[in-house]
Amino acid sequence: MTLPYGDWIVHQRWYAGRTRQLAGAAPAVVTPLRPDLDHVLLDVSYADGGTERYQVLVRWADAPLTEFVDAARIGADGDRLAYDAMHDPQAARHLLALIDQSATVGPLTFVKEPGAALPTDAAPRVSGAEQSNTSVIFGREAILKVFRRVTPGVNPDIELNRVLARAQNPHVATLYGSFDTTWAGAGSQPCALGMVTAFAADSTEGWDMATASARDDFTDFTDESRRLGEAVASVHAALAATLGTSTVTFPVDTVLERLQTAVAAAPALAAHAPLIEERYRKLAEETLTVQRVHGDLHLGQVLRTPAGWLLIDFEGEPGQPLDERRRPDSPWRDVAGVLRSFEYAAYQRLVGDQHGDDDALAERARRWVDGNSEAFCDGYAGVAGEDPRASSHVLAAYELDKAVYEAAYEARFRPSWLPIPMRSIERILSA
Ligand code: ATP
Ligand code: MG
Repeated sequence: MTLPYGDWIVHQRWYAGRTRQLAGAAPAVVTPLRPDLDHVLLDVSYADGGTERYQVLVRWADAPLTEFVDAARIGADGDRLAYDAMHDPQAARHLLALIDQSATVGPLTFVKEPGAALPTDAAPRVSGAEQSNTSVIFGREAILKVFRRVTPGVNPDIELNRVLARAQNPHVATLYGSFDTTWAGAGSQPCALGMVTAFAADSTEGWDMATASARDDFTDFTDESRRLGEAVASVHAALAATLGTSTVTFPVDTVLERLQTAVAAAPALAAHAPLIEERYRKLAEETLTVQRVHGDLHLGQVLRTPAGWLLIDFEGEPGQPLDERRRPDSPWRDVAGVLRSFEYAAYQRLVGDQHGDDDALAERARRWVDGNSEAFCDGYAGVAGEDPRASSHVLAAYELDKAVYEAAYEARFRPSWLPIPMRSIERILSA
């Protein structure tokens, strides 16, 4: 007998195979952590021939556990019942204790960061956030993110958070520990399974704050934007100091390739493609200083705590292969990400409703975006000593690259939002 993993996994919000046909789901590695708790690496195969590996913690029970939510019930194996142990406070505590002990259990290695104090007695609860992993919050102190889809290779989120924690950078949630395994059959590559960081209690997501300001008749947000610019510059400086910098020429081929892919998805882009291409090609001789960066920075990846801004989720651009996500890039990539996010926060007020052609509202939105972009760059320049606006052509190219990607996304999934990136592309090209 085996558990009906396949029937269960397709209903989990972190399941990535929604658009594919599931062919099978079978445990590849099972590590007992306690008599009633198994750590399972589950191999999912698709009808198209692809495979994915997922992490599931299984809590076994002899009788139904009524305190578990329905979605956490995996099924029965003989007369034993199985539940998703992330919803079991004792199992979550056990994982945290293993990290606290820097334990090794079979193929699993748990690591506590030097000097970290883990809240092993705090009450755990599963985070309600809509996310692609599962996080458990311990009291007000720590948050344990258990990765769901796992892949071989160095995990940039752990890697960069570790470097930044050791540099005592105040603009990240301090890394307390992590756990991983070895990916059998992939040249003994590491495979990250989870990480625990300080929990920012009383924090608000940057996106929620910015959209609230935009909704509230575009109230002034520039103080926050300036401080966010300072925080991003501080993180960039720490990453450059610890992991180094190098120089490359502007990656014309990469951005052209992305443009081509995007045009195929969003035909509306085709009319602008020649001008965009011209902008990119003009930068072919440009030398860029590159370093490790966040890679997917936007207002949804920053948290405002009473003390200041934190950057979270250093996984890099979703959907890209690991090597790409870890490749040094220009810090202007991150700056462009935030500037694009200001634009989205403001212009989402103008999509899909009666305000679509409200010129006065569009004018206020534009002023709000410009004000926050300037404030962000002021803050950044003050700390970095280098102003992103001084590299305006390169910065504009990164904004274009991002907007082109957004256009492809919106055309496919959210056509009523397509005007946001299209308008930006027209604006950048006419500047
Ligand atoms: P996604 O699928 O959206 O990328 P994820 O699984 O990678 O999500 P995160 O982006 O790291 O998870 O976090 C999800 C949410 O949890 C964040 O948007 C934030 O609201 C909250 N969160 C994450 N880390 C912390 C923290 N250290 N303190 C407080 N809240 C946090
Ligand atoms: Mg994420």
